[in-house]
Amino acid sequence: MLLLIPGPVATAPEVKAALAHDFAPWDNEFREFTVRLRARVLKIAGGVEGEHAALPLQGCGHFITEAALRSFVPPGAKVLIPATGAYSDRMVRLAREAGRVPVTLPVAQGTRVDPASVAAALADDPSIRHVGAVYSETGSGVIHDVPAIGRAVRASGARMIVDAVSAFGALPFDLSAQPETDAVVFTANKCLEGVAGAAFAVARIDRLREGAGQAGSWSLDLADVLTMSERAPGSSRFTPAPQVLNAFNTALDLYEAEGGQAPRLARYTANMRTFYDGMRALGLTPWLSPEIQGPIIVNVHAPADPAWNLQGFVDALKRRGVLISNFFNTPTPTFRVGCIGAVTPADMARAVEAVGGALHELGIKERRAA
Ligand SMILES: *Cc1c(COP(=O)(O)O)cnc(C)c1O
Repeated sequence: MLLLIPGPVATAPEVKAALAHDFAPWDNEFREFTVRLRARVLKIAGGVEGEHAALPLQGCGHFITEAALRSFVPPGAKVLIPATGAYSDRMVRLAREAGRVPVTLPVAQGTRVDPASVAAALADDPSIRHVGAVYSETGSGVIHDVPAIGRAVRASGARMIVDAVSAFGALPFDLSAQPETDAVVFTANKCLEGVAGAAFAVARIDRLREGAGQAGSWSLDLADVLTMSERAPGSSRFTPAPQVLNAFNTALDLYEAEGGQAPRLARYTANMRTFYDGMRALGLTPWLSPEIQGPIIVNVHAPADPAWNLQGFVDALKRRGVLISNFFNTPTPTFRVGCIGAVTPADMARAVEAVGGALHELGIKERRAA
């Protein structure tokens, strides 16, 4: 089955095989492994030994995003969140339920966050000291200019948390060039092509220490993760996911073998182009214009034909060996296809063919947007 969702992504056979190895989490072999893995992740993020730390957390992207909000934004403090779409909405909810005060910054649909509007919002309300930004908005497919947003945040003397869950590994990110960034967060199972179950924050050590004790959740306290990693290098506070981390380490071997970030971005971009152009050739309308379409996920308008039915379409694709989401995260009906994971442009061409076959099977004649 060709899995085309924006995470958890299709993985290479080597990554799946690495799940078969058993570990004891407190064993010295596993602790040394964890120390090496953290150093590896730190390097990929552009972190500097002694200034930044790569902090693992069990679980998914929401867990690490909430952990970063709790660990860096004091209780009751405001956090400015550009309203980029479904995933910024999620950050707003995580912040609110954690007792922080989200302040949303409107962003026009299908556009990138304007760094000047971030600067203006911070100037208008000097009590806002934190910004939470989504790098790749998985809801829409737009990539936001996080380095430029970071410059605006830096000039305002504020700080930033970056949700890079669907960006990290494919889109460039250099923590050493972004001192305003308290933490960048991501998981193993998107652009780094590991399996689901492990998340990371790469964070500034000084800011983490400054906020120690404020998380209000032992499970999601990154300062506590740091303390543990210093007291007993390579050990975890609670049961980690050793097999998942081992598979992730293998995924990083493959990442390096591919050449790292730039070649991965190039492959995903070629995947996206193949699918995007293929949809237009079938008479369908992608959600975004080509200038703003990012390489991670393509949303396509549901066709206006009364025979359209998302679940029926997804089932018809599945019969053709292609698995996509049976929901959408856009304001109007779409279907969504991930361009990331261990997949190639040839796979995307197969997917285009499958879409053509599924539309034919469902009898979809009017293919323009509903
Ligand atoms: C996938 C994703 C998350 C986290 O989702 P989980 O289901 O919790 O892993 C967060 N932000 C973005 C932008 C994402 O794409």
